[in-house]
Amino acid sequence: SLYNQVQDLKGAIRVYCRVRPFLPGQSNGQSTVDYIGEDGNIMIVNPLKQGKDARRVFSFNKVFATNATQEQIYADTQPLVRSALDGYNACIFAYGQTGSGKTYTMSGPDLMTEETWGVNYRALRDLFHISKERADAIKYEVSVQMIEIYNEQVRDLLVSDGSNRRLDIRNNSQLNGLNVPDACLVPVSCTQDVLDLMKIGQRNRAVGATALNERSSRSHSVLTVHVRGRDLISNSVLKGCLHLVDLAGSERVEKSEAVGERLKEAQHINKSLSALGDVISALAQKSQHIPYRNSKLTQVLQDSLGGHAKTLMFVHINPELNALGETISTLKFAERVA
Ligand code: ADP
Ligand code: MG
Repeated sequence: SLYNQVQDLKGAIRVYCRVRPFLPGQSNGQSTVDYIGEDGNIMIVNPLKQGKDARRVFSFNKVFATNATQEQIYADTQPLVRSALDGYNACIFAYGQTGSGKTYTMSGPDLMTEETWGVNYRALRDLFHISKERADAIKYEVSVQMIEIYNEQVRDLLVSDGSNRRLDIRNNSQLNGLNVPDACLVPVSCTQDVLDLMKIGQRNRAVGATALNERSSRSHSVLTVHVRGRDLISNSVLKGCLHLVDLAGSERVEKSEAVGERLKEAQHINKSLSALGDVISALAQKSQHIPYRNSKLTQVLQDSLGGHAKTLMFVHINPELNALGETISTLKFAERVA
């Protein structure tokens, strides 16, 4: 069918939609999500409209309802994570307006239990697990970098004075995903190493936040996992890399409302998110020219978007009625790249 042809063409790019639940204390009001189908369809309803204009269906590879667990989310992410051990590059993005659940998906909630650990932690745990299983044949080394892109500047989250240093991006396919070579590259060998690093990264992100309230929602954070595997018999080496990206909030800021620093931030975010959308949709359309150069984000990820690389985008929906406008624009963005 035509549908399958389209899916094949866009095979390297998958889009999942996740609807977060109403939070405790939030009025458990009417949800704008009317229906979620097993086939990857989601129907959004606008209770203020009548007739056929009130409903709109969007289609993705998968839609996760409010009761989806972190484990279920990871189960559908795992193949892409594991491809890094086979020498592929991959990107996993969390997209959505502030408060829609991006950080919950990638990292987990503030107070974490093993059950609520997010994709980042689960991905590394899985990589360690598989590399142990393969230890007789392949010797793997895993290391991580953690950077933040704020106002089109790249900063290292693994050094405490990183806020003062702007890092350069180098685009050279020899680097194999190591496109910010001056950011700390820390070897990790167990999940405790990862938890410790994530704490450091979060703390360094928070340092910036004292000066600029709520900064984490206005910067992109990128956790990059570099995998190097040496075949113990042939001695050949494979390299893979996995970027786990918690994007800045996608909400549109009214020009009239934002001034000064806030307007500048908003413009940088709009620019980089649309640059990301342009790159992914150009890739999906097998376009000749892929416009990587239009933002720092797409430059950092260049080797891991397109070619043999795999891409997964989680788009997040806040089901509250007052989020409807942003919900629709989030779904339209996602539909463009799906
Ligand atoms: P974002 O990173 O998009 O701004 P957060 O991940 O911080 O949003 O989520 C906003 C709030 O909603 C947090 O309190 C978070 O713990 C909660 N939350 C988000 N997604 C879920 C979920 N799937 N289940 C339970 N709580 C969630
Ligand atoms: Mg967040």
